[in-house]
Amino acid sequence: MRESHSYRVEAIVLQRKDYGEADRLLSVYTAEQGKMVIIAKGARKPSSRKSGHLELFSVVKMQLARGRTWDIVTQAETAAYFPYLRQSLRRLSHAYYMAELLENFGEERNGDYRLYSLAIRTLGRLNQDDNLLRVSRFFEMRLLQLAGFQPQLYLCRSCQAPISEDEVNYWSIEAGGVLCTQCGSHAHNVTPLSPSQLKLLRYLERHPYEACQKLEVSNTLWRSLEPLLQRYIVTILEHKLRSVSFMKDLRQQMSTSGVVD
Ligand SMILES: [Zn+2]
Repeated sequence: MRESHSYRVEAIVLQRKDYGEADRLLSVYTAEQGKMVIIAKGARKPSSRKSGHLELFSVVKMQLARGRTWDIVTQAETAAYFPYLRQSLRRLSHAYYMAELLENFGEERNGDYRLYSLAIRTLGRLNQDDNLLRVSRFFEMRLLQLAGFQPQLYLCRSCQAPISEDEVNYWSIEAGGVLCTQCGSHAHNVTPLSPSQLKLLRYLERHPYEACQKLEVSNTLWRSLEPLLQRYIVTILEHKLRSVSFMKDLRQQMSTSGVVD
């Protein structure tokens, strides 16, 4: 293979699928090229040296050769690995959710370094942080900002009046953010938004993760933002995310078995 037909990338492995007899198709996200599907030939053979370096949700330095349909992994070396993701179904479910969002918002052959580095930092947090609800909500808010779908939290999406933090306002997916008390009380398909929910959304939007970590926020409040943001994102993507229902099922199972999330 000539040198010009091969190149190096650093990629996050988002999805793996068996292909053919012994190959594996990988959906990855790279800083330079965005979302890509590549093939690791022979990766399922026990003798394969590549396979150990192509784990789900790891960051891998790869050498790729141009292929007809998919580019081919010729060398792979793990750059970052998050061991605790595999030891907890709860951590894993959040990682699946992040990967699915990245696959849906990421563009093919069009990388975004900020999105790439947000994803790596999020995997690191899902690996270690105890508050996974906080990690995922922070990721969603940053993702929406980077993708240009930031919800409007300061001016009413209907009358443009400033939104007060002291009263109940309304969350409107259709309008793309918050409606004031007056407009929201007549609107259809809106959800009441409490002052503490609004404050937390605003804080998430404007502060780095390290500051969000220091907030004293109840689990109930963190969880209350989940349906608001997930429904917002699902509407943007115009299709239901598989991992959302997976997470819901998992939580139901855990609560019936007495495990606290
Ligand atoms: Zn209004």
